[in-house]
Amino acid sequence: ELNASDTRNMLLYIADKIIASKPYLTEIDSAIGDGDHGIGMAGGMQKARKKLLHMETEENAYALFEAAGNAMLMSMGGASGVIFGSLYLAGAKGMEPKPVLFGEDLVNMERKSLQAIQERGKAQVGDKTMVDALSPAVEAMEKNRNGSLLDILKAAEEAARQGMEDTKKYTAKFGRAKSLMERAVGHQDAGATSVWLILQGMREFVE
Ligand code: ADP
Ligand code: MG
Ligand code: MG
Repeated sequence: ELNASDTRNMLLYIADKIIASKPYLTEIDSAIGDGDHGIGMAGGMQKARKKLLHMETEENAYALFEAAGNAMLMSMGGASGVIFGSLYLAGAKGMEPKPVLFGEDLVNMERKSLQAIQERGKAQVGDKTMVDALSPAVEAMEKNRNGSLLDILKAAEEAARQGMEDTKKYTAKFGRAKSLMERAVGHQDAGATSVWLILQGMREFVE
């Protein structure tokens, strides 16, 4: 379980991890995209970090996800700002306040976030986007919903890693990679890589 202070530390840990991965994410986005994904994600996470540090540790752990997601949404702009902001924000928004989050709460949050991202962005599994990592991760979390928080996060990380690998096989339906058609095959999607890193960060923090 995660209390509000754990939640904040976990989100800070993930922010640092993404900021450190900026060159890696940019390199991946450079192959078939426009090469700005690392810059966008690191910038958004930097803003989220600031917001988290200056926020009182609340009695509501969801509020920390919401604040981090909002900071990303506001600062990153564009489609990817909405998509990656929603990953934290959409699942946490409007939840009954809770001082402590259990594994099951994270499962429900991620399901809600995935729904919002797909409603907004219209991507399905196989379209070579972050949905290819997030969707199997949510399914794996649901299969393990009665397990420990660590088991849930291990399952999520592994499913996201597999989903990220699978993006190499696909042509793209969105973004610059779309115009490359078959030439995008063999390259991994940058957003799917970010999803894997974020879920890996959650698992590393809890372990
Ligand atoms: P941009 O494409 O505007 O340069 P980024 O490089 O930051 O933005 O993000 C690109 C990533 O966004 C892609 O690798 C993909 O995973 C994700 N993405 C793009 N369009 C969508 C969409 N409609 N639904 C979900 N994810 C998407
Ligand atoms: Mg890009
Ligand atoms: Mg761009």
